[in-house]
Amino acid sequence: MAPKPLPNVLEITPYVPGLSADSGHKLSSNENPLGCSPAVRATIEANLDHLEVYPDGGANKLRDSIAERYGLDPARLVCGSGSDEIFQLLARAYLAPGDEIIQSEHGFLVYRLVAQQSGAETVSVPDKDMTADVDGMLAAVTDKTKIVFLANPNNPTGTYLPFDEVRRLHEGLPSHVLLVLDAAYAEYVRKNDYSSGMEMASNYDNVLMTRTFSKIYGLAALRLGWAYGPTAVIDAINRVRGPFNVNTLAQLAGIAAINDEVFAEKSAEFNKRELARLTDAVASTGLKVYPSVANFILVEFQSEGPYTAEKAEAKLRENGLIVRDVKPYGLPNCLRISIGVKEANDQVIAVLKDFMSVR
Ligand SMILES: *Cc1c(COP(=O)(O)O)cnc(C)c1O
Repeated sequence: MAPKPLPNVLEITPYVPGLSADSGHKLSSNENPLGCSPAVRATIEANLDHLEVYPDGGANKLRDSIAERYGLDPARLVCGSGSDEIFQLLARAYLAPGDEIIQSEHGFLVYRLVAQQSGAETVSVPDKDMTADVDGMLAAVTDKTKIVFLANPNNPTGTYLPFDEVRRLHEGLPSHVLLVLDAAYAEYVRKNDYSSGMEMASNYDNVLMTRTFSKIYGLAALRLGWAYGPTAVIDAINRVRGPFNVNTLAQLAGIAAINDEVFAEKSAEFNKRELARLTDAVASTGLKVYPSVANFILVEFQSEGPYTAEKAEAKLRENGLIVRDVKPYGLPNCLRISIGVKEANDQVIAVLKDFMSVR
């Protein structure tokens, strides 16, 4: 008889990453169109001589740099190979068969995947206006609920919950339920009623905030993320993580990136301008564009006829523009389009204008 994986493992539908573009523009994975800080490249080039040495297992200098940047306690900070790994580790430490997690209807897919790996169930709560519904999430809590995952801003909707709503969500949760605030796009948000949740993660025993270097810092290839929260949760994550889970070059790159505020600010400014420009131009073709505060837009097409998402995606692809099909997120009539370099955004606008004007 052949070796058999656990039954819950066979139920997992593997995550399908955004398609790559051999030529043209990849607008399918919310990557930074400006690349990364030149300081990161210099650091990596200067540190290639000792690849035989194991990484610092505690990522101590990186944790110190992040803590200093945000005024945090480094002892309550843990780094991961992408924030994806942090979610995996949370599932390993907190979820068993029969447990439940709660997430929003069109929430990030990775939460569901890590829950499945542990045999836990995902309770998916319908959105209100494409935004997480706090009352619905609170109503979904049962004795089995272990974690509530909230991506804020959310991918792929691009919408966010204002700070007082996140606070209301926390206040309504039993103290044994862990609230995970995934703030992967926090640096892009320009709203005075938004907060990444750092303060809540500092003040409560059941709130963890996660962040990533994959988006604003443009380091998706290196896989680097971090979490901040109560000592007991950080301790649990440290117990289940691999001893060298973050490689040396990622640690050094993270330090260089977080110390280059100029690059991060430039990226945020560029995104702000291009997000507004793309949103307005695509909306002016008659398509619905959901209001995004992140580095991508969600565009809604018609369910049948000449103006479907499928036809638009094919047309964009013919023109070398790779965007994200969001059917796996329960959004069959939408496409998610990352903010690209100016030229890419110009092309998206031109192709969609043409697409909507024919027939
Ligand atoms: C991109 C993204 C992340 C980042 O994942 P990494 O593993 O750090 O690259 C986390 N959460 C959401 C919602 C994202 O869209």
